[in-house]
Amino acid sequence: MTEESPINTNIAETTNTRVKNCIFCDLIVANDPNIILEPRSDQFVIIKDIKPVATHHFLVLCDKHIKNAKSLQPNEQDCNLLKSMVAAAKQILLNNGCDLNDTRMGFHWPPFYSIGHMHLHAISPASSMSVFNRFVAFNPSFSYVFVDVDYVLKRIGCKDKNETENPSSVT
Ligand SMILES: [Zn+2]
Ligand SMILES: [Zn+2]
Repeated sequence: MTEESPINTNIAETTNTRVKNCIFCDLIVANDPNIILEPRSDQFVIIKDIKPVATHHFLVLCDKHIKNAKSLQPNEQDCNLLKSMVAAAKQILLNNGCDLNDTRMGFHWPPFYSIGHMHLHAISPASSMSVFNRFVAFNPSFSYVFVDVDYVLKRIGCKDKNETENPSSVT
């Protein structure tokens, strides 16, 4: 783990309005049933990653434009958002017959992310990923690049133990 960086208290990175030239905001607005998967809610939207690194590779996008997981604030609203995204990721993996014990879930960590609209990666089976993806690009032990859900939950002070015992973060 990298050293904890201070929570960014500038909430300007988060907006309730759609952001121009954000591919994920555009997808949410377009609301194409061939792209948007179930479950969906007013908190999140799930799509398939266009460059899957395993048989099942989903992205849970927050509905609201939040720049990245590092922009999440230590409050109940963002805790609940994070938990609902994780629950959705587990649900779609289970709906697709995935083994949650062979799953990689987490977030790109700045500055190593390509799209500046927060999205949770849910990948399964994790054991089938290439060596690079497994040990570098999607490896939460390598937290310069990718962090797991527990890391973010702890960072913003989410107290609920149920989520921290989540088997999906087992590698
Ligand atoms: Zn966006
Ligand atoms: Zn990504």
